[in-house]
Amino acid sequence: MKGRNSNAKPNMIPFTVQDFERAFPNDAACLEWLRNYLYPDGVYCIKCARVTKHHRVKSRPSYSCDSCGHHVHPTAGTIFHKSPTPLRLWFHAIYLLASTRCGISAKQVQREIGVTYKTAWRMCKQIRSMLEEDCGPLGGSGSPGVEMDETYYGGHIRGVSNKNKNKTCVVGVVERGGKISALATLDKSSSTLLGIAKEKILPESVVFTDEATMYDGLTHMNRGYDHRRIHHSTKVYVVGTTHTNTIEGFWGLVKNGLRGVFHSVGHHYLQSYLNEYSFRYNRRHDTEPMFQSFLKQVEKRDAVRWQAPVEVEPF
Ligand SMILES: [Zn+2]
Repeated sequence: MKGRNSNAKPNMIPFTVQDFERAFPNDAACLEWLRNYLYPDGVYCIKCARVTKHHRVKSRPSYSCDSCGHHVHPTAGTIFHKSPTPLRLWFHAIYLLASTRCGISAKQVQREIGVTYKTAWRMCKQIRSMLEEDCGPLGGSGSPGVEMDETYYGGHIRGVSNKNKNKTCVVGVVERGGKISALATLDKSSSTLLGIAKEKILPESVVFTDEATMYDGLTHMNRGYDHRRIHHSTKVYVVGTTHTNTIEGFWGLVKNGLRGVFHSVGHHYLQSYLNEYSFRYNRRHDTEPMFQSFLKQVEKRDAVRWQAPVEVEPF
């Protein structure tokens, strides 16, 4: 073990409000950051077919090629594309979302950056949309183990006997000391859970779950799982290393965040909130400030950006 204690404070480099004000005083500074991030080796001009010098166009959020005058818009292919909201407000909203541990409501973003509720809500939605990630299968031999658990989130109607009606099932898989994957699912049937295990947990892993019968099939999946269970129904929560406290801790974090802020979170939206919480959780040991990690996600996955063609060696 490398002595990574999950209780130890992460040594993330702080990025304070003052740091933010200094680094991003205006729209121009934000656009400049975007340009440097998207074109670290200089801006490639498709007309000149090479990397050329570009200068800022005063009247628009774009740069123009010094040689031919062709315009490049760094916001194209990012979440800022075609948004009438100034870039600095976008950066500020991202800063707010990245700085909280338990999430922030659109209402609070509205108050802090001074846009309408509708705009704040859309911005939050866009920012969340960029936090989706596939952290790949977890565990494997040599791993301290993977915890798997399921829970419910969403609207709870007072007085309704089946309290899980109107709620969305969530299944989580977390590697101890490592990353988490949390998925909103249609149900918590055995086939759903085992399907997720197959996709998210590497063969030969130690898998910790509670006693729920849906997990019975884990040992018969032919993946060499070492399945260890804790019997919550008998009020036993830890036996040696057998527990699901890591994933329960994450559920608590999400529940605290969602409580009082979102009264009824639909299936689709819930997944985007789970992505946000997972994204932050998966970077808790990073030294890079969370704000930087968030900023680096602004480019949309399917964005096509012109770059210098790779030189192919002649035969
Ligand atoms: Zn050019």
